[in-house]
Amino acid sequence: MRLCTTHVGVRRIWTVELRPQQGGPVLVCPHCLPPPHPLTAGSARSAVLAHLAQHARRDALPSHLRTCQCHERGCRWHPRHRGCSGSVLLVLTRAQGGRLWRLADACTACAAVTAQAAVVPDALLPAAVSPRKTPRQPHSPTGSRRPGGDERVRVKEMLTYLAAALPRFCSPSARLLALQCALRADVQGHIRLPYGFLRGMRLASHAAPWNELKHAGWLHCTGRQHGCMQAQLLDAAVLTQAPGREQRARAAHWALHPIPLTTPRETLPSVQLAALAVAVHTEADSGRVGVEDLARLCATAPPPLEDLLDQLTLTRTLAFWRQDLEAGEIRWQLPEHP
Ligand SMILES: [Zn+2]
Ligand SMILES: [Zn+2]
Ligand SMILES: [Zn+2]
Repeated sequence: MRLCTTHVGVRRIWTVELRPQQGGPVLVCPHCLPPPHPLTAGSARSAVLAHLAQHARRDALPSHLRTCQCHERGCRWHPRHRGCSGSVLLVLTRAQGGRLWRLADACTACAAVTAQAAVVPDALLPAAVSPRKTPRQPHSPTGSRRPGGDERVRVKEMLTYLAAALPRFCSPSARLLALQCALRADVQGHIRLPYGFLRGMRLASHAAPWNELKHAGWLHCTGRQHGCMQAQLLDAAVLTQAPGREQRARAAHWALHPIPLTTPRETLPSVQLAALAVAVHTEADSGRVGVEDLARLCATAPPPLEDLLDQLTLTRTLAFWRQDLEAGEIRWQLPEHP
């Protein structure tokens, strides 16, 4: 992969505008005809993501030809940093209070310092996987991989996506619930979560997380039936996930007990979400990740993030954590016993 080329590479930036109008906002794309109907405010966000993802899928490019589009435009999308580095990612950015949305190729360093940006995982753009890449593992024997490895990647991708897709008012409980819904939905986006399962998540008697996701236009509750809470996902981007249902269900299960970072049962949802965000970045018995990236996954800002990490240390979920100011990273180590 090349970050800095002498010539400008293929342009890989797609933008849409949500133009407010009576009856709901209208999605305006410079490449497409205007849609016939206005969007409802709630569904606007997922419609934007689905639309931009569709352009990225259509304009798929082999990964070795993808360059940091931010760099090619003089890095004006973010405050100064030490230069481009890391892999080229698809990054979604919202601007002007959610009116303008941009999906673009950017390097890891630029993505990390761009405000209101989140990485869109490859799993949400199945057709964009370049034919040169080895196919994702659907046929490889399960025994050949580190147990939990695939689940961890799947959860990391979905958590990253949800950090971008859900509005910032969504609480940690709502985010944990959204993760389960996204990973457990069938191909039509239908979800059935048994009450026993919700009790296990300590959500059985709480309507608030469901309401938050409803107000976000992310799902629509279709009722309670046969001991299950039923809902319909409205986020079109989640429905195009590449991995099959069985793989996603395994990932959903892992997310409830992200071994080896399992928290005590009575842990607060904010600390649970932090444990999960740390778990997806843990290799063997230690891990590291950019401060801003981790804060985004935990739906918080860097100062409260430190309190959450302290909580994980107090409960001996982590042996210790520290901030590497030079690298702008948080690093941690797990306790010796599992
Ligand atoms: Zn378009
Ligand atoms: Zn840049
Ligand atoms: Zn860059």
